[in-house]
Amino acid sequence: MRKCDLCGVSEAIYTDYVKGVSLCADCLMSSIRRRAWSVLRRELMRGDKIMVAHSGGKDSSLALLLTKEFSDENPEMGLELISVTINEGTFYRQTSIELAERLASQLGVEHFTFTMEEIHGLSIEELNLKLPSNWKRSACTYCGVFRRQAINAVAREAGATAVVTGHNLDDLVQTALMNMSRGDLNALVKTLRHERKIEEGLIPRVRPLKYVYEREVAAIVVAKGISAHLGKCPFTQGMRIGIRREVDELEDLEAGAKVRALETFLLISEGLISDVKLRKCRVCGEPTTTDLCKACQFKAELSELLGRDLLKPLNLKGVKERFIGG
Ligand SMILES: [Zn+2]
Ligand SMILES: [Zn+2]
Repeated sequence: MRKCDLCGVSEAIYTDYVKGVSLCADCLMSSIRRRAWSVLRRELMRGDKIMVAHSGGKDSSLALLLTKEFSDENPEMGLELISVTINEGTFYRQTSIELAERLASQLGVEHFTFTMEEIHGLSIEELNLKLPSNWKRSACTYCGVFRRQAINAVAREAGATAVVTGHNLDDLVQTALMNMSRGDLNALVKTLRHERKIEEGLIPRVRPLKYVYEREVAAIVVAKGISAHLGKCPFTQGMRIGIRREVDELEDLEAGAKVRALETFLLISEGLISDVKLRKCRVCGEPTTTDLCKACQFKAELSELLGRDLLKPLNLKGVKERFIGG
């Protein structure tokens, strides 16, 4: 058994190649907590009503746990917390929802589930069944856009002033590189820069795990037995897979490459003056930078395939009532 290099007492369960140390579960947790709390301290405001976008996966589960701890340890901030799962209607999601409910109840956080079907009028399961194999986009691409929009709309209905997501260091570096490869500077700035003002109904996002490696998240969730789904979504497709592999190889060659890349992207995005004006989509009214939002552009191409008109405002009937009614 190798002892932890920090406390010298417990068994090491994780090797930090950047610092060249092996850590026990408690020391790894302290290190992750320090990084997450410093983001929360910087980006949350007094009296924030926080909605954690909690899929039940390892990242958002850890984000919920750390945000709840932060809220409990800093009562003078007067934070409120709820946890919300958007059920895309895939088999994979069923297990994660049960785990999400369990963790939320262990932490004493109220948990709500909304289905993509009720909000958008379609499920990813249906897309998986009906998308022809040569279709221009994967179900994964649709899922990301529909889920993001649903999370924001539900947060707005809940009266949330901040949305906490589980995005980790690996996710953010991959997304930044994907935006760069597409030449999408606006998306790059939007993903990375932290904005506090609520514009056109877009609720600010806070990512407490942005300086935490994905393998740290996986290691701590297992070591601490945190209720969470460890599998990756089986539908992940497209550019992200290739970029993930490349970035992982880079990190193997140069330990710390992901952290340095993220810090550089953050500096770049902070220095850029974004001229992106948010407005409301002419069909659904959700915040967007274009006349017709991405979700509606997607729905336009899916309406014919699915044989029904999907182009309409999101169905948020009863969402607010569910929050009020508890
Ligand atoms: Zn230790
Ligand atoms: Zn729209």
